[in-house]
Amino acid sequence: MPLFLPHLFRGLILLLLAAHVFYMFSIARALAGTIGWSWSTFIIAAGFALIMLLPLIWAVALPEFPEMYLRHVRGRRRFARGECPGCGYRIATEDAPCSECGSAVEPPEPYRICGRTVRTFVLINLFAWVVGLAAAEGWAQYDEHVFLAEAQAAHAAEGSQRFTRARAWPSDSARLQWDVERGVRVEDGQINWTRPPAPGSGRDESPLPKSR
Ligand SMILES: [Zn+2]
Repeated sequence: MPLFLPHLFRGLILLLLAAHVFYMFSIARALAGTIGWSWSTFIIAAGFALIMLLPLIWAVALPEFPEMYLRHVRGRRRFARGECPGCGYRIATEDAPCSECGSAVEPPEPYRICGRTVRTFVLINLFAWVVGLAAAEGWAQYDEHVFLAEAQAAHAAEGSQRFTRARAWPSDSARLQWDVERGVRVEDGQINWTRPPAPGSGRDESPLPKSR
């Protein structure tokens, strides 16, 4: 097995964890109901995504699976067949190091979770957290910009005063709204529980303060 494969494997785990962070951050950010950059929303959603990484601690040894196989499982199997654990070369005498690769001819230790295992896992998680946050915040802001352009295009083409649609996946349970006076905001009815807008009503006249 080539040397780069363990790194490739850890890179894949990092991507999966980053996707997990992306999803959790997006859900929390949409629930917070702000538009554009907001420190408080970012901190809350980033904290939520971090907390949602904690249940994955069961996978602490996952990034070391390639080593687990290469050093421990394969090494012991080779030794049992009378081969060098390091390179698989046929062993002539058990006292001397392997004449091919120089590794000691003895059965490798069984795999154990150690401090390095935990450090590697925490590092991969932190890196995935940062990547996931940046991607999710960027994706949400991009979607808000696209939404504004769609609303303005609809306003220019048909003169529509109010435009709504769901946010982009994975926040599509929340909806965005644009109207002439207040611009892009969270759709009325999601935060205004006392006066949900009547279905099909063109404009909402409630004197809500600007949320931007
Ligand atoms: Zn060898």
